[in-house]
Amino acid sequence: MSRIIFWLGLVFLVIFAVRSKIRAAQKRHQQQFRQPPPQQPAQPQPQQTYKARAATQAANDAEVMLQCAHCGVFYPASETVQANGRDYCSAAHAALPSA
Ligand SMILES: [Zn+2]
Repeated sequence: MSRIIFWLGLVFLVIFAVRSKIRAAQKRHQQQFRQPPPQQPAQPQPQQTYKARAATQAANDAEVMLQCAHCGVFYPASETVQANGRDYCSAAHAALPSA
């Protein structure tokens, strides 16, 4: 019986240690996230939650996608080839007659 209690206590200690480690890592990560990166001195909304800030960061990193008028594939807007007032994924598709 004492063996069972010993092993149960050991398991609880391990679980507690792992949980406190994870919590400390999350805190450290949030503190890193709170500090503005050196290239961007102004943080737009300092009172935002961690999740909201992560979503904003992802939205800022994402690029606008356009759909090719010929093949219909989505591609970054910076790679667009415009012809006849339409957007194409490549010069080859811009040269082809649109479907
Ligand atoms: Zn295309």
